[in-house]
Amino acid sequence: SRKLIVGGNWKCNGTQDDVKRIVEFLNKAEVPCTNHIEVVIAPPAPFLPILRSTLRSDFNLAAQNCWTGKGGAFTGEISAEMLMNLNVPWVILGHSERRTLLGESDEMVAEKVAYALSQGMKVILCCGETLEQREKNETTMVVARQIKAVADKIQSWNNVVIAYEPIWAIGTGKVATPQQAQEVHANIRAWLSQNVGEAVAQAVRIQYGGSVTAANCKEIGSQPDVDGFLVGGASLKPEFADILNARI
Ligand code: 13P
Repeated sequence: SRKLIVGGNWKCNGTQDDVKRIVEFLNKAEVPCTNHIEVVIAPPAPFLPILRSTLRSDFNLAAQNCWTGKGGAFTGEISAEMLMNLNVPWVILGHSERRTLLGESDEMVAEKVAYALSQGMKVILCCGETLEQREKNETTMVVARQIKAVADKIQSWNNVVIAYEPIWAIGTGKVATPQQAQEVHANIRAWLSQNVGEAVAQAVRIQYGGSVTAANCKEIGSQPDVDGFLVGGASLKPEFADILNARI
């Protein structure tokens, strides 16, 4: 069975004081044995080194983005090599905020995923539809297109986790119903089974993201194809510790 994976995506939030406070509650959080759960914290990049040295060692770190290739003359960018050099093994790629606000295309996201994997990183690949696309019954197609772009560029899915994040649920308090999440997760697995292989389809972990809270995580987390969460707003609060215990 697939190991639960819960990510905390801080987005562009926090001060050094916030970091101290959050690390404090994370470090004393009681979580199930790390044989059963993987926890990945994604602070803004400037805070990665301080988290690396203060955060408990059984929690991993992720960056929220990285460049499409090797470092060089790319002002403002962060390379996968740098993240590896900082002992940051994970990176979130293709988040809808970057696709929408920074114009990252499926192609660019796929390039980033392929390069990060080539450097030995692990990737949380985000996908998800807008409300308009859902209302036009395009969810399955949109998500398949986003994943296909990546599937075309990578050989192995061993180090990839998919995060299904419906855009209409992000930061809105409008969480997907457990049935809505399960349906898309199952469709993603079916797509992987048909286009990549059954073993990959069964092994790849699929997180749900979008207005996850301590109050709603248990029900969503009990769906058969939901293997964890990618948490935004609630990952900045002590309630994140409760979300880590969703399956207890
Ligand atoms: P919220 O949990 O704030 O809705 O954000 C979800 C998200 O985008 C995580 O990557």
